[in-house]
Amino acid sequence: MLARANVWNKARLLATSAPHSGSWLDTAPNQALDLQLTSSEVQYGVCRRLGVELCDECPCPFCLGAMEKWGAHCEICMAGGDKTVMHNTVRNDVYMYSKRAHAVPQLEASGVDRLLGLAVGPDTRERPADVLLCRAQDVVVGSTVGGTSRVALDIGIVCPQAACQLGVAARETLGAAEGYVRTKCARADMETRCRAAAVVFQPMIFKSLGGVTVEADRVLKNLNKAVASNTDTCETIVAARFWQRIGVDTLRGNCKAFHRRLVGKTGRGVVAGDPFRDVGGLQVAAGL
Ligand SMILES: [Zn+2]
Repeated sequence: MLARANVWNKARLLATSAPHSGSWLDTAPNQALDLQLTSSEVQYGVCRRLGVELCDECPCPFCLGAMEKWGAHCEICMAGGDKTVMHNTVRNDVYMYSKRAHAVPQLEASGVDRLLGLAVGPDTRERPADVLLCRAQDVVVGSTVGGTSRVALDIGIVCPQAACQLGVAARETLGAAEGYVRTKCARADMETRCRAAAVVFQPMIFKSLGGVTVEADRVLKNLNKAVASNTDTCETIVAARFWQRIGVDTLRGNCKAFHRRLVGKTGRGVVAGDPFRDVGGLQVAAGL
């Protein structure tokens, strides 16, 4: 299937085969844990994974760019505020688990830039950490093993089918995300500046279809291990719950962004109030 696929579908197939991609599929619906997906969210998630057409091509109401038929634009579009909401949701998930890992995390909003001495002048344009781990001795980052007290986690989310990512995403499973890590490290010389402030800079790049970069995965394994130890829980269970949380939140954000771009539109597969009315995604998933 991969050999016959075009570049667009190769990027999708490789992204959906990455570890942790589709973790929401393993999630038991649970209202108490806020893990219950709506029918629309399940339909969106299944159709995105299978590459089923979700709507007619139409202009995006926020950036006026082309919204293609497969719904990927809503995961790429920087307008409308959806990317920021998604970023903050994933950031908060990582923060919550860092707290349970007793890594003494601080959110960017609490003044991390001042803590790093970067609050004055042009430094303020680029902020180095969404979550700063102030007690990260047990977190393995890059080539450092222990001894690192502070680690700046910089969260990013990329869509492998974005035009600037498509080529590399069609060649490597995590190509788009790993490329974005290099961009983050080089931007405003952030890695070097953090090192000078005795902080390890660690980009944490998630994919909108699931999956995360190799180093970020290692950091998250360390955090989940600490959570398991602190709560007397099996590490496998903690990790599964973490990825289910990330999977559900990412899918919800993507689906919401999709709906917001289709409100009031009509046409094949795009009907006001019910964008999924004509979508055969679930039938396809069921092999009908
Ligand atoms: Zn747009």
